[in-house]
Amino acid sequence: MSAVDELKRLIERAGRIVAFTGAGISTESGIPDFRSPGGIWTKYRPIEFSDFLASEEMRRESWRRKFATDATMRAAEPNAGHRALARLAEDGKLVAIITQNIDGLHQASGVPDDRVIELHGNATYAACLDCGRRHELAWVKQIFDVDETLPKCMACGGILKTATISFGQAMPEAAMERAYEVTREADLMITLGSSLVVYPAASFPVMAKRLGAKYVIVNREPTDQDQIADLVINAEIGATMSKAVGVN
Ligand code: NAD
Ligand code: ZN
Repeated sequence: MSAVDELKRLIERAGRIVAFTGAGISTESGIPDFRSPGGIWTKYRPIEFSDFLASEEMRRESWRRKFATDATMRAAEPNAGHRALARLAEDGKLVAIITQNIDGLHQASGVPDDRVIELHGNATYAACLDCGRRHELAWVKQIFDVDETLPKCMACGGILKTATISFGQAMPEAAMERAYEVTREADLMITLGSSLVVYPAASFPVMAKRLGAKYVIVNREPTDQDQIADLVINAEIGATMSKAVGVN
């Protein structure tokens, strides 16, 4: 049996599937990942949360980067990989997607908001670090475009940042709690497009496997978790998932 047929069979037999997704599921939508050749890290070193807080120049640099890449993210549309997961969600088999992505493409593919657990936040809007109030990026850009003026919260004057979780920033509690819940109940965990090196996010598939779920990894290249997986498919996510789920 081919690896894809085996994945198909595991999906058919599963009752409660959880997907764990990383930047790799969105490369086929034109959003570069971090660690592939040509990925974001070959261009930018990430800005740590403490540096963002401490330095106005770092905050400016972070908005510069955001607006340099925002057009790509806004133009991106869900691809075959996102659509295959959306179909599984529609069928009721996919309980949740735990994602490290910040691009909103799972929701755009039709998966209901309450089934998408965003561990690293969302880069399609900004939020106040003090009171949490949401601010739209178009508004931030208008202000920033005038001499790189740093935007302030409309409600409390606090520092605004894209609603993402930076290195060194606390993980979102509610999302972590939900991710634990769905992981405990999963009978099939599928990791798609993650190098599985960013923790604590990468601990969810390990936990699912320990608790008895079947574990599948679909990724272009090997990962550190290959040895604990029941099935590893080193191939493109879109083609693999369309075949395994029977959609395109
Ligand atoms: P990563 O860049 O570390 O790893 C991506 C993995 O996906 C790589 O191993 C790569 O070989 C594989 N891959 C890329 N395209 C693929 C494809 N079409 N088919 C199969 N495999 C493919 O990404 P990560 O593990 O998600 O960690 C990066 C961090 O950066 C995350 O925490 C995330 O928050 C953030 N990030 C998000 C986005 C996004 O939202 N789209 C983009 C870049 C970075
Ligand atoms: Zn505020």
